[in-house]
Amino acid sequence: MERLEKMKKQIYRCIHCGACRFAYSGEPDKEGIGEHEGTLYEGIVVGCPAGNLHEWEGFYNSGKMWMARAVLEEDLIPDEDMRDIIFQCTTCGSCEAQCENKISTVDVIEALRAALVERGVPLGEKTARLSATVKEMNNPYVEPHAERTSWFKGEKNLDVKTAYFVGCTASYRIKNVAEATERLFRKLGEPLAILEDEVCCGSPLFRTGQMEQATRVMNQNIETFSKFDTVVFSCAGCYRTIKVDYPKLTGKELPFKPVHTLEFVADLMKQGKLKVEKEFKKIVTWHDPCHLTRHVASDLERRRLEESNNWFLDSRAIKKEKEAWYDLPRYVLSQIPGVEFREMYRIKENTWCCGAGGGVKTQYPELAMDSVFERIKEAEATGAEALVTSCPFCWLNFRDGIRDSGSKLELYELIELLDTLID
Ligand code: SF4
Ligand code: SF4
Repeated sequence: MERLEKMKKQIYRCIHCGACRFAYSGEPDKEGIGEHEGTLYEGIVVGCPAGNLHEWEGFYNSGKMWMARAVLEEDLIPDEDMRDIIFQCTTCGSCEAQCENKISTVDVIEALRAALVERGVPLGEKTARLSATVKEMNNPYVEPHAERTSWFKGEKNLDVKTAYFVGCTASYRIKNVAEATERLFRKLGEPLAILEDEVCCGSPLFRTGQMEQATRVMNQNIETFSKFDTVVFSCAGCYRTIKVDYPKLTGKELPFKPVHTLEFVADLMKQGKLKVEKEFKKIVTWHDPCHLTRHVASDLERRRLEESNNWFLDSRAIKKEKEAWYDLPRYVLSQIPGVEFREMYRIKENTWCCGAGGGVKTQYPELAMDSVFERIKEAEATGAEALVTSCPFCWLNFRDGIRDSGSKLELYELIELLDTLID
């Protein structure tokens, strides 16, 4: 309950206005899934995957705020029914981005989950198994730790300044992303150290309130990577967890600079050190992974506002800084000859979640698939032939969604695509 108690002020700041149910398309005339066409509210659509599926207040963030308050006041005794509402949330952060009251909604939801765990409410069967698997095997995929780097046949533990945090999904399931990343960085003259001691970043544990195991893997990873200046990440979830959650939990700065592969290549392109010569002649759309784009932008806003003496004036500068962050993938795609880029209906701060995060793909596959089908519809409405994203976990859910919906979209991870275009 300590985490929830700490968030009390924020929880009581919620006026239950319900604005966090919605997202907004900056271009309401765009082809997509706008549900208020021709009305005053054109451009506004539901932004919460859980609320969209269940169509009941409890599943939207505003309902979860009521529950947090009721648990604090002991008006509600947490039980398994409540668990299946609180845990059916992808922690996508759409609600947080919409809240004009600047409530850290994802932190509240995660604190509420941790409170349920502390109160002895049993975790969902698959969520509980995931925790036990990470404890025993250091990954959630029930794979031996010794196999973690089996995708890589080169020299490990290179004596370089930059290491690669591969993540469990790219290490065990979407190995094509790990291979392409290692290969591309080598081609760019930036070889990466691959470390056998890397363990799960803890994202599924942080997101589901299982703090004991989350703390253990965090400490091990900090120790393993502490001798490097920079650590690069493929996975949005690993990146967010290590960049945002680790310092929050330890109260200390990380001993290395965390950089997502997207940032790394964008930076090289801006310096003129990376030029794509080969063409990719396709109509392309981009999916913003929530934990990479929106979460990092929200964290940036929160930190800047905490330091601010004048919210009104500083908000403008923060908005610009966030916009620059959201523009990075668009910039990278603009540097690929032949790409005809088309945006989806909901993008950037208003992006729609792929549905995989927050422990949802493991425990609530119906929600994960409902969310990804919605996004695939939105991508198809642009007329795109290819969907590009920059997270192996989003990639995994899109792969399943494209297969199950019979969509003709081609799916690419950004670094994997660049690797095919650079010799
Ligand atoms: S979290 Fe923010 S947007 Fe959502 S109901 Fe509360 S005050 Fe309104
Ligand atoms: S984090 Fe996403 S899924 Fe969870 S309540 Fe907020 S908008 Fe809904």
